[in-house]
Amino acid sequence: MSASTEPPFLVFGAPAIGEEEIAEVEACLRSGWLGTGPRVAQFERDFAAYKGATPAQVAAVNSCTAALHVSMVAAGLEPGSEVITTPLTFCATVNAILHAGLTPVLADVDPLTQNLDPAAVEAAITPRTRAILPVHFAGRPCDMDRLMAIARKHDLLVIEDCAHAIETTYRGQEAGTFGDFGCFSFYVTKNVATGEGGMILGRDAEHIARARILALHGMSRDAWHRFGDKGYRHYQVVECGFKYNMMDLQAALGLHQLAKVGRNWLRRRALWQRYDEAFAGLPLGLPAPPEADTRHGHHLYTAMIDEAACGIDRDGFLDAMNAARIGTGVHYLSIPEHPYYQQRFGWRPEQWPHAMRLGRQTVSLPLSPALGDRDQARVIDAVRALIRPA
Ligand SMILES: *Cc1c(COP(=O)(O)O)cnc(C)c1O
Repeated sequence: MSASTEPPFLVFGAPAIGEEEIAEVEACLRSGWLGTGPRVAQFERDFAAYKGATPAQVAAVNSCTAALHVSMVAAGLEPGSEVITTPLTFCATVNAILHAGLTPVLADVDPLTQNLDPAAVEAAITPRTRAILPVHFAGRPCDMDRLMAIARKHDLLVIEDCAHAIETTYRGQEAGTFGDFGCFSFYVTKNVATGEGGMILGRDAEHIARARILALHGMSRDAWHRFGDKGYRHYQVVECGFKYNMMDLQAALGLHQLAKVGRNWLRRRALWQRYDEAFAGLPLGLPAPPEADTRHGHHLYTAMIDEAACGIDRDGFLDAMNAARIGTGVHYLSIPEHPYYQQRFGWRPEQWPHAMRLGRQTVSLPLSPALGDRDQARVIDAVRALIRPA
């Protein structure tokens, strides 16, 4: 078999890296300062400005998982407190709750928006509930009016998982600024990519100051100050912290990725609209159109494959796309499909039926801003060859 006759494999979620990023990484390497330093500080300032926050309200870390973990530790909730979240999320959301010594409680999603259903959240509240952890799924904002009303009524913290939602707004307000904490991801497939990376955005600068200390061993001063040109300064360990700091090498990518966030969003929106038009006549479930008075982050284009309507099941579709050399994703098998949570909590997927069905039918099509028009045409042709009009 000759590889030259095959089209190149379309890697799902490939980042769009330009010459600016490459030059900045090189400059960072040549500067000799690879660890947490001036580029991380600049990236924090840029991110704060993008979100309309102050630099004292953000802390860069090395992943969104770290951001979620440290936020919940910094919030100082008593061990065993219950945190309500969605079953239709990446495992890191739930694992971070567990690592913070808290208890995850799942509430089902709305079948249309795929976001936490506020009524289900309210029904899941117990005397031990202390926080709600909504995920703005695929970049679509959760119903923050209703979730914040529930939080106020029951005096709950809100930690927003904004891994898909850098650009997302809800009634003119930025995702990540509703709750006590907003946690962002700069993983390779996310809308701003630093390889690995994350950001905590917080309403309360004191919470962020504590999160910053927790993210670097619990040390009272960061290494940049310690080894800078101001002379040696002793640090003090004031908490048992973690090793979650972002490197300048990562921030070098982030500075330029963030500068392009609007342009890349426009490209993904155009790809999204073309998929919508191309699939309109097919028996495929398409993502709900963005809600009025919101900005959808357009992070994932998730189609639903109902075997009865499409004549192929989801996993068969994934295999066929792979054979057509097109990478796809699944976001997500619902959390209780995984053996760890079944064994630890006795959860069964059927307890959250909407998340279960969505997780078994969903497929994410390529939506990277690096995707060219011809690449997208290949994806569309492949989908049309597999799923015939009803
Ligand atoms: C990617 C992702 C995370 C974890 O982000 P990392 O930066 O890889 O730790 C958490 N939650 C959701 C919803 C995600 O998609």
